[in-house]
Amino acid sequence: MSAEQQIESLRNELREHNHNYYVLDNPTISDYDFDMKLKELQKLEAEFPLFYDESSPTLRVGGMVTKNFETVAHNQRMYSLDNSYSKEDLQDWEKRIQKGLGDVEVEFTCELKYDGASINLTYEDGKLIKAVTRGDGYQGDNVTTNIKTINSVPLQLKGDYPSKFDIRGEIVLPFEGFAKMNAERIENGEEPYMNPRNTASGSLKLQDSAAVAKRPLDCLLYGIVGQNTGITSQWQMLQKARDWGFKVPTVAKLCKTTDEVMTFVEEWDVRRHDLPYETDGVVIKVNNLQQQEELGHTSKSPRWAMAYKFKAEQVSTVLNEITYQVGRTGAITPVANLEPVLLAGTTVKRASLHNADQIAKFDIREGDTVYVEKGGEIIPKIIGVDFNKRPQHSSPTKYIDHCPECHTELVRTEGDAKHYCANYYGCPVQITGRIQHYISRKAMDIEGMGSETVTLLFQEGLITNYADLYSLTKDQVMPLERMAEKSAENLVNGVADSIKIPFERVMFALGIRFVGETVAKKLAKAYKNIDALMSASEEELTAVDEIGERIAKSVVEFFHNEENREIISRLKSHGVQFELSAEKLENQTEKLKGQIFVVSGVFTKVSRDELKKLIEDNGGKVGSSVSSKTTFLVAGDKMGPSKRTKAETLGVQIISEDDFLEIIG
Ligand code: AMP
Ligand code: ZN
Repeated sequence: MSAEQQIESLRNELREHNHNYYVLDNPTISDYDFDMKLKELQKLEAEFPLFYDESSPTLRVGGMVTKNFETVAHNQRMYSLDNSYSKEDLQDWEKRIQKGLGDVEVEFTCELKYDGASINLTYEDGKLIKAVTRGDGYQGDNVTTNIKTINSVPLQLKGDYPSKFDIRGEIVLPFEGFAKMNAERIENGEEPYMNPRNTASGSLKLQDSAAVAKRPLDCLLYGIVGQNTGITSQWQMLQKARDWGFKVPTVAKLCKTTDEVMTFVEEWDVRRHDLPYETDGVVIKVNNLQQQEELGHTSKSPRWAMAYKFKAEQVSTVLNEITYQVGRTGAITPVANLEPVLLAGTTVKRASLHNADQIAKFDIREGDTVYVEKGGEIIPKIIGVDFNKRPQHSSPTKYIDHCPECHTELVRTEGDAKHYCANYYGCPVQITGRIQHYISRKAMDIEGMGSETVTLLFQEGLITNYADLYSLTKDQVMPLERMAEKSAENLVNGVADSIKIPFERVMFALGIRFVGETVAKKLAKAYKNIDALMSASEEELTAVDEIGERIAKSVVEFFHNEENREIISRLKSHGVQFELSAEKLENQTEKLKGQIFVVSGVFTKVSRDELKKLIEDNGGKVGSSVSSKTTFLVAGDKMGPSKRTKAETLGVQIISEDDFLEIIG
């Protein structure tokens, strides 16, 4: 087999597996085998750039960066939908349709209304060529590079697809992936996202498509627009789209009467809670496309379609008490403790109140009867107060001004919605929180030790920071509650073992605010050892790719602190890894020391990520934007014009991929 054939065959095979996994939910190959095949294809494609194909499955991982999304006009306007809330509304609509069409038989399709961000995909000769957001309906943003990273969007169609058409759908973020993203954010000391829909639509506008690739987005399709598609009904359209490889949910029904429609609505108003993603209603459409055409549009929406909105699940219950939680970074979160109540299939006892402003805005008080709603959010929220039921002599909530754990006065910096306990070294919850983070699986992964053990050890006065863990002895640990000789031994061994954990993860384990897993890796790679990092200035740090001011500030503050410095030197003396391993340092030179590169455009010999890696491996730094500090701008094909202009005005030297490869030899 020639290389070209081999590449083609691998691409087809991988496409098929992608489709099985992401569209049909029915994988037929292990993740490992899939990765192996993908790696093989990547290798071949790198070796034979001649056979580049913009719809290759290897392009799912992203990497293209878009600074400004181009505005493009839709081939056909993207309309809104009229809303209805009752059976009567639906019957009125049906009457209008009958009148418009002159008493003929009309069938309806029912589909769920997926709650995410609308998208219009353009396909030509079976390849995705453009993806545009709804925008104002006439024109939207070209977000193709980001959409290509979504696995359920086919880059290459199969079957008897028409040569050119648009297809519309909704980009959604399924609950599970959303919860996972938030768990990570909380672990990294960041504010969790509010709901899946906003997060999905925000994702489409991220500048770095590799960041989009990491988000578990999904694309659900519902409508094809285009001439000569040979399609005559909405029902057939759904079927065809499925055949060509699109993800079209199978929850749909063809109905003859509004009664049948109502049955579907009532059924799914309940069953939607079992779906993996958020829905906010049912969309009912006239099935026959000829009839749709006859009915046409109003200025705002098609006359042939109607949304039936589900009522957001809402209940009222008594708010017994407002309590306050302190996070490991010191952030205070007020929590509403409710009289337990059933909502959307689960018993709700608590709701988040977010921050002081939120409480003030709704004038929420203890003893109030409050309305609780469960929308897209995983945690229910309070959306208002039933003032009729407010008890006499109730008084406005006075937000705490001292930490509930350590009684230190709280601070609130400008622009921050939250109050903080600044007692970094004395607040027990912050101390144990940091140690709990240090030992956690993604950080130092210390076996034989759990969160409760940390709390116990702290209460017994045995540890006050994570460096203390390394001095613990079996005899000290054994007297603790529920500790036997064996478990004490495991704990001490687990701690000792943790010195094998590589520098990148140690960086994460330190628990510096805003330094999550990815940032920790970046910092470790850019500075190679902790001493270099500890002496870096804010300015130097922001020159590192993806490190913004907020992170840089937090890092400098952390290392500036005397106690932190001492803890680190103690960790060092216990043998914790504070530099990249020899293996990682191998292949590394200092050729580019002190030089800052900005990389822009598309490259042919190496991928953008490889290029960045080469720079870092040779001691250089990768910056995200051109400034007077930039040494070289490495320009690839289709480089952003603004970067070039900026480099030219600042006198930054622009070099090609070949020039660069020559420099590093
Ligand atoms: P609205 O924004 O409330 O006017 O509703 C219109 C939007 O609903 C469209 O832009 C679509 O993106 C979205 N939508 C979600 N599911 C469907 C569906 N099954 N059929 C049509 N539109 C849908
Ligand atoms: Zn405190």
